[in-house]
Amino acid sequence: MQSEARKPAPVNPSRIVAKAEAVLGSAPRPIALHEPNFGPRERALVIETIDTGWVSSGGRFVDQFEQTVARYVGAKHGIAIVNGTAALHLALILAGVRSGDEVLVPTITFVATANAVRHANATPHFVDVSWKTLGIDADALDHHLQEAATMQGGVLVNSRTKRPIRGVVPMHAFGHPVDFDALQKVAAKYNLVIVEDAAEALGSQYVNTPCGSLGLCAALSFNGNKIVTTGGGGMIVTNDDALAVRARHISTTAKLPHAWEFLHDEVGYNYRLPNLNAALGCAQMERIDEFVTAKRNLAGRYIDAFAKSEDGTILAEPSGTRSNYWLNTLVLSSSNFAERDAVLSALHAARILARPVWTPMHLLPMYKELPRAPLPVAEDIHRRCINLPSSAALAARQ
Ligand SMILES: *Cc1c(COP(=O)(O)O)cnc(C)c1O
Repeated sequence: MQSEARKPAPVNPSRIVAKAEAVLGSAPRPIALHEPNFGPRERALVIETIDTGWVSSGGRFVDQFEQTVARYVGAKHGIAIVNGTAALHLALILAGVRSGDEVLVPTITFVATANAVRHANATPHFVDVSWKTLGIDADALDHHLQEAATMQGGVLVNSRTKRPIRGVVPMHAFGHPVDFDALQKVAAKYNLVIVEDAAEALGSQYVNTPCGSLGLCAALSFNGNKIVTTGGGGMIVTNDDALAVRARHISTTAKLPHAWEFLHDEVGYNYRLPNLNAALGCAQMERIDEFVTAKRNLAGRYIDAFAKSEDGTILAEPSGTRSNYWLNTLVLSSSNFAERDAVLSALHAARILARPVWTPMHLLPMYKELPRAPLPVAEDIHRRCINLPSSAALAARQ
């Protein structure tokens, strides 16, 4: 009876719609979750690639884009890649993930994180996330590894599958940085390499360090829905000189430099970003600060609108971090799929194209038999979290 009495009141979809409408004002309907934002520079630089003929693997924009992004995240090297998934695939290989290894991945993530691990012929091992960040919960991870794995000659081994657990892929969900200090302690304790999935976190900072330069290397994405886009694109960023050289080599078919001979010294990949896409990226990077500021303003307005709501709250950036607020997250006060779906229906009826958080990886058909930790927080997040429209342009409208 006690627990009955404490049950929160059902969420009220029309009250939520009214609050979202107050923030979104006169923006034309339908309002997408996230839209790209282009101006005259984007147009000029893309047209330059067409006019000069440098649309493909040569041209000035790839180098410039790599340097601009690497400098922005405080990394020594950037290697532009065709998309974020491919960047993560190569990053894992370069970080030492081998066929037959397991890699710790948060179950709350976009499917690309788990797919990239499979592309590297390794097995995702799903772990739970924290309500503070929606990213990997380092304490829960430590507890799980104490129970489920042992150190054997400096390598962490899954006691059940007998496979080496080589690394961990923190993902900064919706731009909110993971608790990296705590994660790094656990990674050091179990000798795990850290490869960041920073696809959503360009412009976010953990304490004073940009996301993307926290681990050995990181993958960024410039897909059309990300804070900065190249149409499709990605990048590996790292401070490790040797890793950067290898990344460049294997992403361009492992071709040896020669004036005419086609010599390749291993099975490489055709993963380099075309100059056409990099041109768009160069123009977008001129505006990254404008985008981050706009998105933080929009987040502030959502936070204010839901501050006293009984229906839910907006997830704020974790303390000590600065989030790019790539997507704003409404956390419903009730943990129930029917109520979540009623809210999504009401928002869609108002042509506000909100979305639920991703289906956790361990519930997808191809990943449901894989190793995993207990995942109670992730399953609660799945029932409670809704992403609200978060395009930078929405901040300009009232
Ligand atoms: C966007 C994204 C990626 C990479 O996606 P691409 O579409 O391949 O660029 C990877 N991980 C996460 C968490 C993402 O949001």
